[in-house]
Amino acid sequence: MIEPEYGWVLISVEDLGNKDGICERKGCGTEIRYEHLTYHPNWGYKIVGSTCIEYLTIEDQYLSTVTLKLFRNISTFINSSTWEKRFTKKLKSYIATTYSHHEIRIYGKENYYSFQIALKIKGERWFDFKDFISTKNKNLSQVKELGFIVLKGLTTESEIEKKILRNIYTRIK
Ligand SMILES: [Zn+2]
Repeated sequence: MIEPEYGWVLISVEDLGNKDGICERKGCGTEIRYEHLTYHPNWGYKIVGSTCIEYLTIEDQYLSTVTLKLFRNISTFINSSTWEKRFTKKLKSYIATTYSHHEIRIYGKENYYSFQIALKIKGERWFDFKDFISTKNKNLSQVKELGFIVLKGLTTESEIEKKILRNIYTRIK
């Protein structure tokens, strides 16, 4: 796989005090003092210098604050959501969690999960059930992540957030 040239998000910057770091951008290898930890959903983490971070994040600088916030939302959700086991009327088991009154339900088993979003309608007692979305070769925490991204995309009022969530979803689905 080729190292992506854009779509990286800056996570943090660390000052080493001296040029004790090495830029990991492909073809660079420069000694660096400021370690920029960057993340790409298709690649993972990488440490680069201040010049290379500009290249990697050039198309995303405008969006990077929002993106970072969403990645934090996702990991907070993954780490803190509680899921309960339930049964359908036909006694099929599934797990469910609530996020700002809405629900994410996950059915199936490892590698063959499907999930469903149930939106709580304001002022009503019932839910608006969305279509089942099947996944392949995903573990439970990846499916939880997908469910959260879809739910967040359906409920956010920010067009920028919707767009970023759509991009993240397309990259990891
Ligand atoms: Zn570099």
